[in-house]
Amino acid sequence: MILGLIEHDRGTLNPQSLEMLTLARELAAAGDGPLHVLLVGGEAEGLAADLAPYGPAVVHLARHEALVDYAPAAWAQALVDLIAAEKPAAVLAPGSDRGSEVMAHAAARLNLPMAANCTAVTPGEAYRLTRVRWGGSLLEEAWLRGDPKLLTVAPFVLPDDPAPEPGAAVVRPFTPALSEADLLVRVVDRVQPAGDKVSLTEAKVVVSGGRGVGSAEGFDVLGELADLLGGAVGGSRVATNFGWCTHANQIGQTGTRIAPDLYIACGISGAIQHWVGCKGAKQILAVNTDPEAPMVTRATYAVIGDLHEILPALIAEIRRVRPGG
Ligand code: FAD
Repeated sequence: MILGLIEHDRGTLNPQSLEMLTLARELAAAGDGPLHVLLVGGEAEGLAADLAPYGPAVVHLARHEALVDYAPAAWAQALVDLIAAEKPAAVLAPGSDRGSEVMAHAAARLNLPMAANCTAVTPGEAYRLTRVRWGGSLLEEAWLRGDPKLLTVAPFVLPDDPAPEPGAAVVRPFTPALSEADLLVRVVDRVQPAGDKVSLTEAKVVVSGGRGVGSAEGFDVLGELADLLGGAVGGSRVATNFGWCTHANQIGQTGTRIAPDLYIACGISGAIQHWVGCKGAKQILAVNTDPEAPMVTRATYAVIGDLHEILPALIAEIRRVRPGG
């Protein structure tokens, strides 16, 4: 049996779980099936039916009165309990912050190796893996042994398509054996960051600025454009270091990785550490004075010129063509 850990936040599915299921289905079809998934917390129960098109035969539901919100060690204990009961050949999780965190806890509790950020697996007694290293600038071939084999799936690499045949998705609730220590780290409160109307990871459009923006005030126009497009504002590490935007806005290897429909990179050179954070975007528009900048040469579209002239002109044009703009 192949087991996939589904990441959700109070019953809202993390889409990277569906990418993970693409690889999990491949492994199940290659002989280690059937495919089962784990949902932790009663709030996730409603997701079971949503997951059926992605092929699971069984949806295990870890219910416990203490599982009211995310708690990494408690999620890991639920996973460890299920592994002991069901003895899967492999366990997969999305390579998101939470997926990686839970799998690391589970691997430590099981004293097993865990391979992070996999993009392809050739099954066998040992799995031959391809995995992303160094923020996406290197692909590594590796072997993974273990019973079960524990791995996370690199975000934004695999498709999130449904299965050719839906799964029965039979729900099997169980109660994990949690201790107080499993709940020492848990979500107790949520604070919406001031000013951000759309979260960076969920925004369909991200307007991002780098050194070329020149100042914190220079980001106002990026915010205006993002608002007009219903998007969010991002920044390069240089912009973050200067305090023009917060670290929560930083895109890249040491920031957030995003995959919006449109990424508008303003005054950003496109250094590899930045590129790995935005390369998942479907379309990239670079605004830069340098026609040779890596962001420009890799972008879908580029406007060569001073962003301080181009962005206000772009905003004015959007307002002009929009009804009621
Ligand atoms: P620059 O590279 O200085 O580029 C500025 C660009 O603006 C240039 O292309 C220039 O032509 C253009 N420009 C200037 N003026 C204008 C104007 N008026 N109009 C239009 N264009 C203009 N960086 C990240 O972004 N995210 C990360 O997560 C990250 N992690 C890192 C991790 C490590 C371990 C290391 C070593 C570095 C990391 N970096 C990261 C830094 C990265 O290497 C680059 O230094 C950084 O991305 C450059 O930021 P920038 O593009 O804003 O600045």
